[in-house]
Amino acid sequence: MPSPGLAYDLHVHTRYSPDSTAELEAYASAGQQHGCHVGFLDHFELAFTDRPGYLREDRLPALLEEFDQVHSVHPNTSLSLEVDYYTELAAAVAEFCDQYHNDFDYLIGAIHTIDELAVTVPAEFSALVKRFGLLGTIKRYFDQVEAAIRANLFEGIAHLDGVMRYATVYPNIRQAEAFWQVRTRELGHLCRQQGLLVEVNLGGLRQPWGRTHPTSEILDELVAAGVHFYPASDSHNVVTFVEAVPLCRKMTDYLSGKGALRLPGKLGSG
Ligand SMILES: [Zn+2]
Ligand SMILES: [Zn+2]
Repeated sequence: MPSPGLAYDLHVHTRYSPDSTAELEAYASAGQQHGCHVGFLDHFELAFTDRPGYLREDRLPALLEEFDQVHSVHPNTSLSLEVDYYTELAAAVAEFCDQYHNDFDYLIGAIHTIDELAVTVPAEFSALVKRFGLLGTIKRYFDQVEAAIRANLFEGIAHLDGVMRYATVYPNIRQAEAFWQVRTRELGHLCRQQGLLVEVNLGGLRQPWGRTHPTSEILDELVAAGVHFYPASDSHNVVTFVEAVPLCRKMTDYLSGKGALRLPGKLGSG
């Protein structure tokens, strides 16, 4: 159950992710100081474990041990992974989740790449738009998210419509936005049916998208329809995390007031 008065942020990256150098202990101390639960959510991208800096299975024991130490001093912390799902590697991802599920408080599914190009990196997103068109890229992303939800491996889904992060600069965004709205709503409802939590990702506020994932309008609708959520800053450093605490607190209070705040896995049942 959520602790009254505590803000929740279940999405921060540490030096176990290729795109962060932050220490677990630094987030945990800052979280304690600012009254915010810290959910560690480092990337695990099975397709890229051979790339330098990407988390490999042989580094998981070090992560687990370091978390145990930090958690013993700062109990308002939890450990998870942001696991990328790929339909073409579905069996391998399922095997990974089965093997490590008990070591973590919960596992969160995410889509970052299509054809090994990241929708979350502007140059790679632009290459995808050249290859598939804007609508085709967005369609492929949502199809992968749907597959991740249906895979029955995760307690929640990160940035449901994260593909929109860099989409707003394209001239045909209007047509794409109609499709985005329909699919985001559909997949929100699917999460409820499948018993998955949906993340409210505040990172979109810092990107060209300029809104949360999902946006406040869609969030209100899904909350009214009984979808459950958790707040997430998607921070890659401690400064961003601390700056986002007031927003996480506001989102925690909003969700809590609507009865829509749920904590995933062992964090929710513990
Ligand atoms: Zn992500
Ligand atoms: Zn992330």
